[in-house]
Amino acid sequence: MATPKVDPDLCTGCGICEDICPDVFEVQDDGLSHVIDPNACDDADCCEEAVDECPEGAISME
Ligand code: SF4
Repeated sequence: MATPKVDPDLCTGCGICEDICPDVFEVQDDGLSHVIDPNACDDADCCEEAVDECPEGAISME
């Protein structure tokens, strides 16, 4: 099973991934997106879209 990962060196905290996959990504107090539930990708099938839509290319599936 592929799980999403956010590269903190690339993420700007724009929140697009959170808009697309709110069960998976959350922009937290540090201003960066964090993966709060990698298993939610299976249910929502939105992680690939988040990978494609992240303007910084900060999300990868591993
Ligand atoms: S879409 Fe990309 S740059 Fe924007 S918050 Fe998510 S991981 Fe960070």
